[in-house]
Amino acid sequence: MSEERSLNFIEEIVEADLASGKHKSILTRFPPEPNGYLHMGHAKSICLNFGLAKKYGGQTNLRFDDTNPVTEDTEYVDSIKEDVQWLGFNWANELYASDYFEQLYGFAVDLIKKGLAYVDDSTSEEIAAQKGTPTQPGVASVYRSRSIEENLELFADMRAGKYKDGEKVLRAKIDMASTNMLLRDPIIYRIKHAHHHRTGDAWCIYPMYDFAHGQSDSIENITHSICTLEFIPHRPMYDWCIENLGIFPSKQYEFARLNMTYTVMSKRKLLQLVNEGHVTAWDDPRMPTISAMRRRGFTPESIREFCDKIGVAKRENLIDFGLLEFCVREHLNKIAQRRMVVFDPLKVTISNYLNESETLSSENNPEDENGGNRAVPFTREIYIEREDFMEVAPKKYFRLAPGQMVRLKSAYIIKCDDFVKDAEGNITEVRCSYIPESKSGNDTSGINVKGTLHWVSAAHAIPVEIRLYDRLFTEENVGNAEGDFKDYINPNSLQVIAKAYAEPALAEATLADRFQFLRKGYFCLDKDSTANKLVFNRTVTLKDTWAKVNR
Ligand code: ATP
Ligand code: MG
Repeated sequence: MSEERSLNFIEEIVEADLASGKHKSILTRFPPEPNGYLHMGHAKSICLNFGLAKKYGGQTNLRFDDTNPVTEDTEYVDSIKEDVQWLGFNWANELYASDYFEQLYGFAVDLIKKGLAYVDDSTSEEIAAQKGTPTQPGVASVYRSRSIEENLELFADMRAGKYKDGEKVLRAKIDMASTNMLLRDPIIYRIKHAHHHRTGDAWCIYPMYDFAHGQSDSIENITHSICTLEFIPHRPMYDWCIENLGIFPSKQYEFARLNMTYTVMSKRKLLQLVNEGHVTAWDDPRMPTISAMRRRGFTPESIREFCDKIGVAKRENLIDFGLLEFCVREHLNKIAQRRMVVFDPLKVTISNYLNESETLSSENNPEDENGGNRAVPFTREIYIEREDFMEVAPKKYFRLAPGQMVRLKSAYIIKCDDFVKDAEGNITEVRCSYIPESKSGNDTSGINVKGTLHWVSAAHAIPVEIRLYDRLFTEENVGNAEGDFKDYINPNSLQVIAKAYAEPALAEATLADRFQFLRKGYFCLDKDSTANKLVFNRTVTLKDTWAKVNR
């Protein structure tokens, strides 16, 4: 944490529980359902759960909430583990709710024996109709008064596979008139003849979320079970189960889920984007997934800093995606290696440069004293950015124009003498002369110029592909916008520059490196790169729009 801040409400609860002796130490959990890749909302939850434990000397379990056999997969389990580790956290135990199926079954039997659960043969439509409305009490099912013995036998038969999907359910016997609809005899087990990614075909009945989650917390002795606000109405059921089963009293606390501008935070919606080809994969750098952010060049440090900055809210809000980019930029400025890449090349010939070439030296990172230098070859023919030359320049144009001087970064001052046009009137070459005494680091020319340009030696330039990303949606609050969220997809979220020219040092780039391409933004190597073709992703632009807007 970079700055002092007051305690959030969950930290206050934890401190009170430790001070009163209610808990000697805390144990939190991060409980993803392995039905998709993790997104930034999960990153918030991970930072909160692991961060709390870290701060108070406790521990955090990674528990896969894998009670729904149909949508879950080990591909997702693996990606989740990779993402949590990449964010910089270590779990105390890797656990699976499916490992508790036998225990959960036992809890259900226990409830039946206590007269607190019954097997219901009603159809799902009938059960829905019995539920009543928020203003009207529900009606008891005719099966509600089944004897304990009959319920025990029927539940065992459900497990044994005697019934088809939907033929019977197990319901908790609570209160059909409760003002909390979730307490009107909720379904706690359903029949589902489906293959589970871990338990295979061992089970054909599966516990519902409300019967699995709290009990799993309790089995692990979780002290503070933190979830998002939509689970507030589930809390009475959470407490009811724990109380009536007489098991470890885990407690649930709720905070506002993270929503961000110009993107969606729902695995279901993200899966649609992947399946329908709107993006190339879960880790397409335009996605708000952790794997996409990693591929795009975001750092774990900056994501943690962002999660810390936004704090823990009790009310839903929408966070500016620009704040995350601000954090990324701040961190990359400190660590990124500076390099020169020309995106839209214009040839410059330096007429009075008669050496074949020379090796200049350029600072890797002016923010880092120990960053060192790299070799940059200089020759008579170089490329500059086409937009850095103007035939007729307005006042205050400090770049290259006829008669005007600029500095080439880490090299010499050059002066534009002339330029060449083709038959269509396009400028094809700029001719300059250089000032030999103006070499960077040893400049005795006494000439002051206002503009400094990035450039690459034409003979040494390596062609690379550049991918520039923009926001994935055009609507700020796309999560709440009317109609289909896909109607708001930004058709221009990806721009590819097929052939930019990079300085030769970039041939050594690895996936772990972070770069600032001078005057262009922050970039990293993409995994699509091959030995013959390097591909770079723009992580974030140089300009800091968020800080400006919010100052
Ligand atoms: P999704 O709707 O995207 O599938 P989920 O809540 O169903 O999300 P889970 O895998 O069940 O996803 O969530 C794991 C944990 O992450 C839960 O504790 C959940 O509350 C938390 N979480 C999920 N989305 C967010 C979010 N946007 N902000 C904060 N926490 C989140
Ligand atoms: Mg879920």
